[in-house]
Amino acid sequence: MRYLLTALCLLLTTSAFAQKHYDRLAAIDIQHYRFELTLTDESDKINGIATVDVLFKKDVSSFQLDLKKENNGKGMKVLTVMSDNKKVPFAHEDKKLTLNYTAKAGDRAKILVAYEGVPETGLIISKNKYGDRTFFGDNWPDRGHHWLPVVDHPSDKATVEWIVTAPSHYQVIGNGRLKERTNINADITLTHWQSEVVLPTKVMVIGAARFAIQESGEIYDISISSWVYPQDREKGFYDYAQAVPVMDWFINHVGPYPYAKLANVQSKTQFGGMENASNIFYSEKSVTGNRTAEGLIAHEIAHQWFGNSASEANWHHAWLSEGFATYFTNLYMEQKYGRENFVGREKEQREQIIAFSKQQRVPIVNPAIENYMNLLNTNSYQKGGWVLHMLRKKVGDENFWKGIQTYYDQYKLSNAYTEDLKNVFEGVSGLSLDQFFAQWVMQAGQPELKADWKYKGKKLTVNFTQSQAEDFIFDLEVDVVYEDGSTERKTVRLDRKSQEWTVDAKEKPAKIVLDPDTWLLFEQK
Ligand SMILES: [Zn+2]
Repeated sequence: MRYLLTALCLLLTTSAFAQKHYDRLAAIDIQHYRFELTLTDESDKINGIATVDVLFKKDVSSFQLDLKKENNGKGMKVLTVMSDNKKVPFAHEDKKLTLNYTAKAGDRAKILVAYEGVPETGLIISKNKYGDRTFFGDNWPDRGHHWLPVVDHPSDKATVEWIVTAPSHYQVIGNGRLKERTNINADITLTHWQSEVVLPTKVMVIGAARFAIQESGEIYDISISSWVYPQDREKGFYDYAQAVPVMDWFINHVGPYPYAKLANVQSKTQFGGMENASNIFYSEKSVTGNRTAEGLIAHEIAHQWFGNSASEANWHHAWLSEGFATYFTNLYMEQKYGRENFVGREKEQREQIIAFSKQQRVPIVNPAIENYMNLLNTNSYQKGGWVLHMLRKKVGDENFWKGIQTYYDQYKLSNAYTEDLKNVFEGVSGLSLDQFFAQWVMQAGQPELKADWKYKGKKLTVNFTQSQAEDFIFDLEVDVVYEDGSTERKTVRLDRKSQEWTVDAKEKPAKIVLDPDTWLLFEQK
């Protein structure tokens, strides 16, 4: 009942807060974006012509795109909106462009928005660490609307093409396949990238900079390239080539790579790395010449499957993106560096989760978060990863991989809630996982566990006490270690705040070890 109540409360908070998103997602579905952008060296003003291909799911007399309006010199000014060569009346206020356009359910329309302005964020126009001017899209979570008219929500995916005109000393990277690169004249080059598979706007970007570019390798006909600052040419090519075996591992363990290519790009992203679809933007500092970014590379590549292709249905389920990327980095490291490396990472992340829970006792899926940047927390990353780790223990290795591949296959190029992941794993394992997901994902905290034991007459009796506020039910492995070094592995189900457990023991143990193989998220008291 406790869990049902929690779930109900979550539902209520979600609906009030997110209603505006759901209303729009129910009315329109963007099919394709064509962004024609002009970048210059004269100013940070960009000129854009966006053609937005809209499918109407309901009869409407108006609808909204997200676009930040110009204010104090930053933001976008809409020059005109057209459809079928006719002007579309519009109103532009703050973040919303309202188009007075009448359509019936099932209609399609191409809406052309001509605009210009200096992006406040979303497209970072600045100088890199070598003083060279650069342009880098940086949309996560919903900053795409600072430079693009879009439905800025992960559940409205669309195909996209970029036609970027820029001074010829820049090379332009974008999502998908390179369709065209033409020197318009001595000074200006047009670059056209196109993604034929749908993307969420959070990973829909271009970058323009002076780049050194190298093909790092090819895996299953997918080109993997490195785009680094020319000053970092040798170091960057060396560092980013680590992406090649990572791609191979993910394709073999999760499923076919969803995109046309992978470019690993040194950039001015505000994050350590940003998993933009088919062109990952890494921070400038990621290049050292010592291959120090392997974990980061594995993390961002994991996102190509989890987050970009199988995306969270809304931001509050961001752990389906970050938790997966965190855990799959650990798994990649395990096959490369061995079990000890993996267990070390799990233990370190468990400590971080415990420390975080003492600062903020909130569940992983926490609809109270209104500033989505705050979702970049230990819950989404480390705890999300630990949920997958415990799920693997719960269903077993074989079902875990079957579940991962089924989940990806079912939700690729689409969106999922935590509930969808649960349903997939219930399907492959035959287990009911309601309580597992309720306590680890929808409830805050983790068990704080104390074990006092005594031995008498070939019996070992352990008194377990859970001192945390929340209720948890879980299986705990216990090693009974004897003086001669021999060990017996036992499993106990703990489902109360205080319980006594008695098992046979051949003699007085030297010690007992809780969770000897590091499978449980708990704090030992
Ligand atoms: Zn990430």
